[in-house]
This record gives sequence, C-alpha cells and structure tokens, in this order.
Amino acid sequence: MANPGDFAATLKQQADIVRIVGEYVKLRKSGAQNYQGLCPFHQEKTPSFSVHVTNQFFHCFGCSVSGDVFDFVKKIENITFPEAVRLIADKLGIAVPKMQYASEEEARQAKQRGGLLDIHERACAFFREQLRRPEAAHAREYLKSRGLTSEMIAEFRIGFAPERGFVLRDALSGQFSDELMRESGLFSWKDKEQPADASGQLSEGSDADHKPTTDNRQLTTLYSKFRNRVMFPITSEQGRVIAFTGRTLAADEKSGPKYLNSPETPIYSKSRVLFNIDKAKQAIRQLDYSILVEGQMDCISVYAAGFHNVIASSGTAFTDPQARLLGRFSKNIVVNFDPDTAGAAAAERSLALLVSEDFQIKVLTLETGFDPDLYIRRKGKEAYAEALGHSARYFDYLIERARAQFPVRTPEGKVKALNFLLPHIQRVPSRIVRDELASEISHRLGIESSVLRQELRRAATARSTRHVSAPASAPCTDAERVLIRALASRDLAHAPVSQREGQDPDFDPARQAHFALTEDPVHTGCGTEELINLLLRALDDGVDPMSLPLSESDRTLLASVLLQASEELTPELLESALRSLNRRQKQRELEQLQRRVKELEAKEDLASRAQLAQERLRMKQAARTMGNAGSEAQ
Ligand SMILES: [Zn+2]
Repeated sequence: MANPGDFAATLKQQADIVRIVGEYVKLRKSGAQNYQGLCPFHQEKTPSFSVHVTNQFFHCFGCSVSGDVFDFVKKIENITFPEAVRLIADKLGIAVPKMQYASEEEARQAKQRGGLLDIHERACAFFREQLRRPEAAHAREYLKSRGLTSEMIAEFRIGFAPERGFVLRDALSGQFSDELMRESGLFSWKDKEQPADASGQLSEGSDADHKPTTDNRQLTTLYSKFRNRVMFPITSEQGRVIAFTGRTLAADEKSGPKYLNSPETPIYSKSRVLFNIDKAKQAIRQLDYSILVEGQMDCISVYAAGFHNVIASSGTAFTDPQARLLGRFSKNIVVNFDPDTAGAAAAERSLALLVSEDFQIKVLTLETGFDPDLYIRRKGKEAYAEALGHSARYFDYLIERARAQFPVRTPEGKVKALNFLLPHIQRVPSRIVRDELASEISHRLGIESSVLRQELRRAATARSTRHVSAPASAPCTDAERVLIRALASRDLAHAPVSQREGQDPDFDPARQAHFALTEDPVHTGCGTEELINLLLRALDDGVDPMSLPLSESDRTLLASVLLQASEELTPELLESALRSLNRRQKQRELEQLQRRVKELEAKEDLASRAQLAQERLRMKQAARTMGNAGSEAQ
C-alpha cells in the first residue's frame, strides 16, 4: 500500500471490512471472528475466501490474495489506492481531503475517469431536461406507449437527445475540455476541411443559424452521436452513469440502428456491465436469485412491476466478468428470454457460460409472441409472478426441447437427442450432478444409461478441474498461534508501544506480548519466528500488522492463524501461551547446555574442567526454573 495517509488510516478504522466486502461477496458467519464466502477473484464452488472481523483483513486460501479493505476495493473495482480511499469514504459518507497519487500517469488516469463520470452525469441531467421540453412530445409519447410511468422515467433517469447535434456540446463545452468530450463517446467529429454535410449529419435539424464552435488545434467540430433518441443511462455497480443506450424515434433507416450504445471508454467496458445491477443487487442478494431478461425495456417493465431483482444482458452473450459480477450476489438465476428468437445464439452462449460457472438456472418460457414487457402489460404482474414460479429447471427445459425436436422413439432420434444434450451436460462442473443428469436423461429418453455415462466419462477425462486446496493447518504450536494473534491484535496499530506509558487497565494483548517478549525474547526455532519478529517490529513502528509487506507463506500463515482461532484471546490464555513458549525455550537451552557439558567432559585440560563446573551449575539452575515454569504452566 503506497503511502497510506492519515486520512486513509482513520478511514480504515471506521470502515467495517465485513460490510464493504459484503457488498460484493455473499458472506456467511463462520466462527467467532470470521466470515466466509466464495472468492470473487477466482472461480470456486466451496468457499475459501475469509474475512476477519477483528483484524479487518481478507484472505483467500485458494488463490492467496489477501489484504485490507483498501486492497479489496482496489482489486475488485480495478482502481488505484486513492480512488479506493475515495470510494470507501463515499460509502461511509465521509468527505475526502485532496488526494495524492503514486505517479503522474495514475493521477492523469484518475482525473480522466473522474472527468468522464462528471460529463456523463451532466449529460444525463441534460437529456432528462430535454425530455420535458415541448420538442420532446414524441419521446414522451413513445415512453407512454411502452407503459412507462413518470416515476419509472425518473427512477431510471431516462431522457431525450434532441435532433440538433450541437445542443449537448454547447451545454457541456463551458465545463469540459474538447479532449474530454471526445473521450466521452458522446460525440462524433469531422475534420474541418471535409465537407460538413458529407453524410447529411451536420446540416440536419435547425442549426442553420448556429455557428459550430471549432477547436483551433484539432480543426474539428464535435456533434452529438445520439440524436432524436430516447436515452437510457447505463450505470456502474455504484449507480454512476457510465454510458448510454439511445433508442431511435425516427422511422427512416438513415438515422442509424434502432438501439445505439456508447462506445467503450475508460469508464465503460461493455463486457463488465450488467444493466440495472446497481438497483437490483440488494434484491438479488435478499431473494437469492436474479431474473435475467434480454433488453433494457424488458428490464424496466419487470422492475416497475415490483420484481426488483431483474437485470438485462442487453442482447449480447454473457461474459466471464458479468457472470462473476452477478455471482457475487446470488448463483440462482431465472432466465427469461426465448432461446429460439433473434438473440438465440447469444442466449445459448450465455446459458452455456452460466452452467459452467455453476449457476443454478431456471428457464421462464412465456407464451409465444410475448416478451416480459408485453406479458406484464397485457396480463399483469400477478400473472408474471405465477409464471416465474413455474419456471423450469434448465435441464428439464433442455430435455423437453430435445423431445420436441427429435423423434426419441427411434434409435436415430435418440442419438440426435443425445448429441443435442451432451455438450450441455458436459459443461456442468460437478461430476455428481453430471451423473445425476445422465441417469435422468437416460430414464426420460429411454437411452441405456451406461452408454450415456460412458460418453460423459470420455468427455470428463479431457476436462481439467482446478483443485483448490483446503486451508492448510499452519505449522505452529497452539502457544505460537496465541502469540501471533496477540501481536496482530488490532489495537496495536493505533500507537507505537513506546508512546504508550503506564499500565493500561484494559487488556491489550499486543502490548503484553510485546513486553513479555522484549524482556525475554522467545525463539521458536521455526518459520513462525520470522513472522513473530516482523509483528514485533510492526508493533514498535506503530504499523498495522495487516498491511505489512509479507512473503506469501508468511501471509498465509498469519491468515490461517487468525482465521482458525476459535478461543477468545484472554489475558490468561496469553499468559499461559507465553509461559509455555518460555518453557520450551528454556528446554532448548538446557539441551544445548547438556550437549556442551558432554563435549567438555570428553576433554582433559584444566580450562575445560573449570568451564565444565560452571556449565553444570548453569544447567542445574536452568533445570530448576524449568521445573517451576512447568508447574506454573499446568
Ligand atoms: Zn481466491
């Protein structure tokens, strides 16, 4: 973590990592101080991702990522440290002082992203304002015809892009640079030398009396990419506007595609965004399933009907990042689009991906000719709720499709049905589930199950399954574990030990361990020692142990000790741990002395004799304290 400022440190104390991570990962309480969930950074079926409450860090035993709340947000949002600080501060409603960046490039990128977000927010407000104007009567009429109430128009921040191409630019040009406007994806431009009306675009509308402003350096003129379109903002997971979809209101084909999307920009990557995820994520987590529809209009209708856990794929096939994004909230999904229609190929690919990402899929097939929007408008939300309740398991749906397409009574039909189903089954990650499906299919299609199983086995051998090792028990003793926990206790980050004077009436494990160890250093004699030393140094420097730059093995050791702790860290527990460590150390010293005495005994010279007598005395003393320590510790 580069240069954590005072503000970040304060913020970290106030941010609850469980709450912040919980916004991205479904967490379950596990033990007194941890939460567990499926790692958002690698694919897994059993949770190896843990969050520790007291020490405020996360660790994945599968892919070994770990860190504090800032590391988590940085990684999952793919942003810089200062941006993570800002994001967390925003979540907590705390004002952020001016930020520092690690490099000029980082500062430039962050500034650019900030500018692009501002421009989109401003454009969104502009489009909404335009929708209220007299010229937008046809846009309002269109929205009304689609059954959209003014509440929904406001909630989804729907707007209107006027026909005249310079209005948006003029509205923004005072506030944003030409360069930023170009990068926003909201504008097109042409070199000034080219005839402005080459495509008819610049002479359209009533801009005749309006002199376009030009950029002298670039000699270009910006004009709006979206014209005479109803504008649907596309938002990030946090609800920031990052792009738009414009639905044309023109009847002629000249005006471009029916739906026009923003191009990719530094803030918008199509493959990472799910329409409506910002508004839907809470409901998806609560209801533990999502409804996937094809288009934005469907999505808004379903949402307006009260099903808030709905998202749209916007007609393209699901991508890995999208599946991962959605999977953070729930792995149960009802897919409500007809894989036989226009987007069939995309739908098929989406389903295939979701199967291999271990989603539990149901398919809602509405009557022919009905999309969700039309269905709800014609039949009402109760009917839609009913249909949702009757959605079929994905594989039941596939089997029915196979039966409908192929004459499964004949041997040829069976082979065809099997060839249709096999690729789908092969994508299921779990062998147990695949076997279950195989026997079900053989039963329902009347196929010899051994044939089916054999086909699956053959496919399975080609399959590589990633194995995630379970959290390994750290190679340390119970006493060492207690010591590590004490040293890593959260309080120590607040002030260096030397600054804290007098006995604290409250139990401060870190400080007690520190005093015990500095008086009488413990040598554990194994890999743990290195970690303990690092923790001691962190304590002296007043550094948060969780932000120490540790090697991967130390990090995993620390994480596993903290995550596997079940007993409460009490003064008694710490004391007995320290005593037992001390005893082991004395034992080791004693053994060393014994070896030395043996060596000396073998020698004949006078000096050795004298030394021998001394060493024997020391040995006796050591043995006596050993005895005491032993009886106290028991
Ligand atoms: Zn992981």
